[in-house]
Amino acid sequence: MQQFPDEIVQSPKLASVRYDVRGPIAQEAARLEREGHRITRLNIGNPAPFGFEAPDSILQTMIKELPTAQGYSDSQGIHSARVAIAQYYQTRGMVDAGPDDVWLGNGVSELISMVLTALLGHGDEVLIPAPDYPLWTGATKLAGGTPVHYICDEQNHWWPDLAEIEAKITDRTKALVVINPNNPTGAVYPREVLEGMADICRRHGLLLLADEIYENITFDGVEMVNAATVAEDVLTITFSGLSKTWRVAGFRSGWIYISGPTHRAKNYLEGLGLLMNMRMCANVPGQHAIQAALGGHQSIEDLILPSGRLHEQRETAHRLLAQIEGVSVEKADGALYLFPRLDPDLYPIDNDEHFVIELLRQQKILVSHGRAFNWVDTQHFRLVTLPSVEDLEEAISGIADFLSGYRAG
Ligand code: PLP
Repeated sequence: MQQFPDEIVQSPKLASVRYDVRGPIAQEAARLEREGHRITRLNIGNPAPFGFEAPDSILQTMIKELPTAQGYSDSQGIHSARVAIAQYYQTRGMVDAGPDDVWLGNGVSELISMVLTALLGHGDEVLIPAPDYPLWTGATKLAGGTPVHYICDEQNHWWPDLAEIEAKITDRTKALVVINPNNPTGAVYPREVLEGMADICRRHGLLLLADEIYENITFDGVEMVNAATVAEDVLTITFSGLSKTWRVAGFRSGWIYISGPTHRAKNYLEGLGLLMNMRMCANVPGQHAIQAALGGHQSIEDLILPSGRLHEQRETAHRLLAQIEGVSVEKADGALYLFPRLDPDLYPIDNDEHFVIELLRQQKILVSHGRAFNWVDTQHFRLVTLPSVEDLEEAISGIADFLSGYRAG
């Protein structure tokens, strides 16, 4: 009789792929919940469960369109949504944007994977920020590429250092990733930094990959510059979608907008089109939500004003964390997160994943450890600023208690 291995094992392709934000810590939280504990979840940037409901016009449009959304759509996405996205970018200074330059996906996540899979051969390098949104690193590895991290500078608002980026370019470098506004740091890059990144791509023939899913979430009037507007002659793929600004992460509605000298990328775009075809199309009801979202009242604007919920919560979380001895934290100019640092003299942490698991067990508060974002030390963690002011006050007081016990211990 034929012998089978006892166990089905995972592909070696996954050996170094990680996505720790939803990894062992989240499983431990689920275990504690099953035991009956209430966990304060400060780990995922998912607005809806925190009471951030989508504008009603989006929901009504989706409900109305459901009967017409039963079949597959064109793989690139429905035309009305692509027109709406092109017009949206035109109003943001990308005057040449047209529906043919827009491709729809099941969230930015799916598009990140497809864009990298279509691009990378074995050992091709992608410049990715550290800390990063870890899907960029994981998807690069899964596509056979090598992530090369450039270190963002905590002493300088978490902005990248252009000289360091340039020094890390090799003849295998294919693309430069910019995440702006940034997850996990909340940094929003000034125009000069983006111009510098575009210039690096221009001089080295790199593809600029701009993850701008938080583009409408900035505070105190900080200007958000879309990378494509300073990179008109650079091949640029801009990523965005409905998950954050329009608070419907569950609809899995995302898009890319491809700009610059696309004639240089004919072969690449054919490959990307092949991957799009192979997965048929993005979730069609979610595609119908796009035109309603982009054309309707932009309610995110009310939330980021000083009187708005997102602004108030960021203020509260920042103020309370900064009051804890040995905690320093840059105030986020955008996005939904803070990335505090714990002074190693007071809190020497060998393993930050164990540290956050201990916080979870003792205080029932779930945050993510800094290394989950490919950060270089073990002294950081990320929390989301989505919970109400009251919940943030309670959670941060729990973190402060845990830290004082950690010092005493
Ligand atoms: N890019 C960044 C920087 C993110 O923070 C996230 C989600 O948290 C995503 C992409 C994924 O977005 P989507 O829900 O569109 O897949």
